[in-house]
Amino acid sequence: MRKIAVIGTGYVGLVQGVVLAEAGHKVICVDISEEKVNILKSGKATIYEPGLSEMMQRNISLNRLDFTTNSEYAIKECDVIFLAVGTPAKEDGSADLQYILNVAKEIGHYINNYKVIIDKSTVPVGTGKLVKKTISDEMNRCNIRFDFDIVSNPEFLREGKALNDCMQPDRIVIGCENEKSKNIMKDIYDAFSLYNMPFVFTNIETAEMIKYASNAFLAVKISYINEIALLSEQVGADVQVIAHAMGMDKRISPKCLYAGPGYGGSCFPKDTKAIVKIGNENNVEMKVIKAAIEANDAQKKYMVSKIVSAMKKVGGIINKNIAVLGLSFKPETDDMRDAPSLDIIRGLVKEGAIIRAYCPQGMKEAKWRFADIDEHIKYLNNEYDAAMEADALVILTEWYQFKTLDLKRIKNCMRGNLFFDLRNVYAEKREKTSDFEYYGVGISAREAK
Ligand code: NAD
Repeated sequence: MRKIAVIGTGYVGLVQGVVLAEAGHKVICVDISEEKVNILKSGKATIYEPGLSEMMQRNISLNRLDFTTNSEYAIKECDVIFLAVGTPAKEDGSADLQYILNVAKEIGHYINNYKVIIDKSTVPVGTGKLVKKTISDEMNRCNIRFDFDIVSNPEFLREGKALNDCMQPDRIVIGCENEKSKNIMKDIYDAFSLYNMPFVFTNIETAEMIKYASNAFLAVKISYINEIALLSEQVGADVQVIAHAMGMDKRISPKCLYAGPGYGGSCFPKDTKAIVKIGNENNVEMKVIKAAIEANDAQKKYMVSKIVSAMKKVGGIINKNIAVLGLSFKPETDDMRDAPSLDIIRGLVKEGAIIRAYCPQGMKEAKWRFADIDEHIKYLNNEYDAAMEADALVILTEWYQFKTLDLKRIKNCMRGNLFFDLRNVYAEKREKTSDFEYYGVGISAREAK
């Protein structure tokens, strides 16, 4: 059992802290947001993630998990410190390292014995060295000297499946500089499981690159299948069957091969931009990744124009009610950072539509994110209320409950019959949508019977 501080208790930090506590470590989660810490202290999770609340409450009651805004206390108390603060994209696409470096400075200020400082945040190559220098500079300024090691341990969790991804990861990438820190990392993670953990030990720079290379690859894969979907629509092919057959090839795999409205979330959009920027700074043009970003922007715009164009048949989109199901960027999360719904709903509103929105978890966040176009959006309590008097229905996020809609009831609620299934939820059971004029992505549209 180790005493571990996790600094930054957002999505990654909270899940990491809870899971480390579940593995038996004593964990102090730190955040600068007093509001967040107070909510967490009261036993409520600040994000929606299946199973998280229960695991969090259990570990609080076992005295293995605590929350504080007091970074000095956490740094002095623990010999292992995870950094999990945000690294949002700056205007120019590069990662904003201010939060990471602020914490590094605090560690240099309060350090009181040997510590391992582990970077979990997604950061550009060279950040490990920069964190090391920042800590050393601050120690020099304070006239103190303690040994410490820097480790890069990027996080690969998927929102909505975060607990499982953290407890049974495909791989644990550890970039470190010596045996001492390597053994501490093994010790921390070995507590997770009885079976051999899939470690990849490497240097810090390689570990930092693995994260960007992985995320950018997945973004390229999504943009690739979305482009194949566009072409499929034009030539009468079915992208669902194409993706299925492609995925049977083990070199390709079926994962991240689903046509849809474009990728979003807190990672792919910012990480693809960041790696392009890192390439620029090192005179390497990341042509493939740049194309994926461009294709993704185009995909979201295409979704809007597809809806606008289909609605010409019913007299245009102006003042028409559009029921939108799903706002979060993926199911089982309330996260709306860079969600496709942000661009697509704004696009539809700009064209004159009135939005009737429902999302199982995303509505709280949507309300402040869409505050400037509030008068064009109504938030409803469920999918059937959203469909009431709607001229068109759009599935934007494939929440499980949207896969089992009572489509007769939906149709009875609506005044129109246009159904835009931007996640191809009903693509393989299109007979169920026979009361609607059905549009998927990358498959031929079908008129109502
Ligand atoms: P987040 O914005 O949800 O959380 C960051 C937290 O850090 C916030 O709660 C903020 O208040 C806190 N913070 C900022 N400065 C602080 C300071 N000085 N001291 C204490 N707390 C401070 O971010 P996130 O989604 O958890 O992402 C964190 C990092 O992990 C990012 O680099 C991200 O790219 C990476 N990542 C995210 C995911 C994901 O699915 N969200 C997955 C893998 C990796």
